[in-house]
Amino acid sequence: MKVTEHIKKANGNTQFSFEMLPPLKGQHIQSIFDNIDPLMEFKPPFIDVTYHREEYVYKELENGLLKKQVVKKRPGTVGICAAIQNKYGVDAIPHILCGGFTKEDTENFLIDLDFLGINNVMALRGDAVKTETYFRSEKEGHSYASELVSQITELNQGKYLDDALKNSSETDFCVGVAAYPEKHAEAPSLDSDIHFLKKKIKNGAQYIVTQMFFDNQKYFDFLDKCRKEGITVPIIPGLKPIATKKQLNLIPHRFHVDLPEDLVINVVKCKDNNDVRQVGIEWCIEQSKALQKAGIPILHYYSMGKSDNIQAVASKVF
Ligand code: FAD
Repeated sequence: MKVTEHIKKANGNTQFSFEMLPPLKGQHIQSIFDNIDPLMEFKPPFIDVTYHREEYVYKELENGLLKKQVVKKRPGTVGICAAIQNKYGVDAIPHILCGGFTKEDTENFLIDLDFLGINNVMALRGDAVKTETYFRSEKEGHSYASELVSQITELNQGKYLDDALKNSSETDFCVGVAAYPEKHAEAPSLDSDIHFLKKKIKNGAQYIVTQMFFDNQKYFDFLDKCRKEGITVPIIPGLKPIATKKQLNLIPHRFHVDLPEDLVINVVKCKDNNDVRQVGIEWCIEQSKALQKAGIPILHYYSMGKSDNIQAVASKVF
């Protein structure tokens, strides 16, 4: 079922969903099931699976020279989605990127999803590879998520890259896109970011999932701004419980979000990461309850591959 249909069916109740990372290459798929199993009691209507593009590493050769090598540390997004749908009977949502994909790769990826009965997809640009400062698309690829959304919309209309195809079948993807209540790092202003968010909706995206935030007011202000700009699709909030002291620096640096002073003070006071975990869980429970009270249809949790703290939050909220 599509995300938009899940929201309609919930009839105003707040639902629980979450995002999983594919296991590191070399690990068994059981490692992802072990993290999903404890969360199934909260009846997620869907589970997202992230996509991880290639990285470049330099390997030292016997002669001392360095060889640039492409590696994919977390492959398997499509296979994991199929396995989740098969094992749990829950919709799995693969993330798909512009980065590292030509239009042809994208089309083939979408054909696989369609054949597997996966009909939700989260369309993203992706970040620059670690060795580059700015995002660079493939020569025959998309530069922005809005272009990727257009390609998916065209496939939904039966328009494939090879326009000589006869009687081509239409796909039926429900497309989600990302948004940033505290602005995307590269956007010159929030208004500019929302302008391009509108473009993703105009090109066919049907729902939005936000970057994590730790101050609900940032989400409510963003929601308000989007509605005033005429964006009417569901805007699903993304939440993450802080789990380690290190994340006080890592999260603002990597995700370009602010941490509220009270949260920072409480984390700093903790004597170890067990205490931090508890502070993070309690903060996230409060955020979740307030969003639930405001009638937000779905709360989406970033697991970062570990489910125990999400389970602790969900058990108090759902
Ligand atoms: P876009 O919507 O393309 O926007 C990127 C930037 O370009 C923004 O600053 C925007 O304002 C600007 N912009 C857009 N269109 C134009 C235009 N036409 N002209 C000029 N500027 C423009 N990354 C992964 O690698 N894998 C994942 O699985 C993944 N999942 C994610 C899930 C969620 C919910 C979120 C919020 C992020 C996720 N990301 C993931 C990270 C994401 O790929 C990065 O944040 C990336 O930098 C931006 O992606 P986007 O789809 O928002 O890009």
